[in-house]
Amino acid sequence: MRIVLLGAPGSGKGTQAALLEKHLGLPHISTGVLLRHAVAEQTPIGQQAKAIIDRGELVPDDVMLDLIEERLAQADTQQGFLLDGYPRNLAQAESLDALLKRLGRPVDEAIQIDVDPEQVIARIEQRAAQEGRSDDTEEVLRHRMRIYQEQTAPVVDYYARKGLLTRVLGEGSVEEVLQLILSVLSMDERGAAP
Ligand code: AMP
Repeated sequence: MRIVLLGAPGSGKGTQAALLEKHLGLPHISTGVLLRHAVAEQTPIGQQAKAIIDRGELVPDDVMLDLIEERLAQADTQQGFLLDGYPRNLAQAESLDALLKRLGRPVDEAIQIDVDPEQVIARIEQRAAQEGRSDDTEEVLRHRMRIYQEQTAPVVDYYARKGLLTRVLGEGSVEEVLQLILSVLSMDERGAAP
């Protein structure tokens, strides 16, 4: 199964993707993790991306497409994958569609995790304390939320128009949200069965 997880910064999408990876046996592909790794390794992409990430802005679409194309060429993605943090704007959604069409492996499901913005702030403050991410300061977070509203929210409608979107309320416990997502996925699998 090829799944796109969508949600605002702090919606719990990364946490859920990590759990779903274990439950479904599919690789969790987080573009944020790939980029932070590139920054730590000081690769050319990492050097280009660091200042952009620290400002809370989006890394250019062509860089992201190269990164995702390279990741999807790896053998572990053949049985499916969970995308977390990509696509982040309409141009990326269209590029991803074109890439997956070319590979004959289209997206099966898009899941949007909805949370109240107040909860998001509280979660990010907790994450900042635990992980010490350089882009989890209040000012950068506000900027990331604005970019999310302007650029990423339309991606939700994009998948809705394709009939691939399910919305899940992300305000319960981690386990409750996980069960909601798993039930959506198993319903769809049953629906797809002959
Ligand atoms: P995340 O861990 O998904 O919150 O991503 C952290 C940061 O990495 C974002 O604020 C962006 O600067 C960058 N980033 C991650 N994914 C993308 C993407 N698909 N397009 C552009 N920038 C991205």
